[in-house]
Amino acid sequence: MRLLLLAPPGAGKGTQGERLAARHGVRHIAAGDLLRAEAQAGGLLGREIAAHQARGDLVPDQVVLDVLTPAVVEAAARGGYILDGFPRTLAQATAAAELAARLGVTLQAAVYLYAPDTVLTQRLLDRASQGGRADDRADVIRHRLEVFAGTTGPLVPYYKERGILVAVDADQPPDSVTADIQAGLSGLLLPRS
Ligand code: ADP
Repeated sequence: MRLLLLAPPGAGKGTQGERLAARHGVRHIAAGDLLRAEAQAGGLLGREIAAHQARGDLVPDQVVLDVLTPAVVEAAARGGYILDGFPRTLAQATAAAELAARLGVTLQAAVYLYAPDTVLTQRLLDRASQGGRADDRADVIRHRLEVFAGTTGPLVPYYKERGILVAVDADQPPDSVTADIQAGLSGLLLPRS
C-alpha cells in the first residue's frame, strides 16, 4: 500500500494516517512530525525548520526532501507507506514522483480530506486549549489555511488528473471518515471490470 493524505490543517490527517498505516501494515510517515523532530534536534537546520513551522510557513522544498527521502526509501523497501503532509507543493509532488519511479514503485492513491475553514479552525483552537502545538494560534492557523489553499490545493487537480484522487468529507466523526476512505480506496484499487 502506497498512498498519501492531502488535507488542510485540522482535517484529521494524523488520526486517519495512523489508522490506515495500522490497517495496511505499513509505515505512517508524517512530514510535520519528522520536521518537528529535526527542529528539536537543534543545529542550523533545526533552527531554520523551527522558524518556518512557528510562522506557519512551508519549510523549503529541499529541506523537506532531505528529511523525508530516507524514510520513504526505507518504507518502500518494507512494503509501502502512508504519506501524511507530503508532498505539499507541486515541486515536492514532482520530486516524490521521480523518487517513486527511481524506486520502481507507483503511488496508488491520494486521499483528499476536506472540511470548511470554520470547522478546521475550531478543531485547532480546541486542540490548542488542550495544550496543543505552538502553531495552533489563531493568527498562525489562519496563515496555515491560506498556505494550504494557495500552495497545496493545486495538488488536488494534479492527482485527480492522474486518476488516483479519493476525496472524502472530513467534517464527520473520525470513524465515518475512516469508513469513507476505505470505501473510496476499494473503488479505486479494485475497479470493476
Ligand atoms: P498541519 O497540517 O496541521 O499544519 P503538520 O504537522 O502536517 O500540521 O505541519 C506543520 C508544519 O510543518 C507546517 O505548517 C509546515 O511548516 C511544516 N511542514 C509539514 N509538512 C511540510 C511539507 N511537506 N513541506 C513544507 N513544510 C511542511
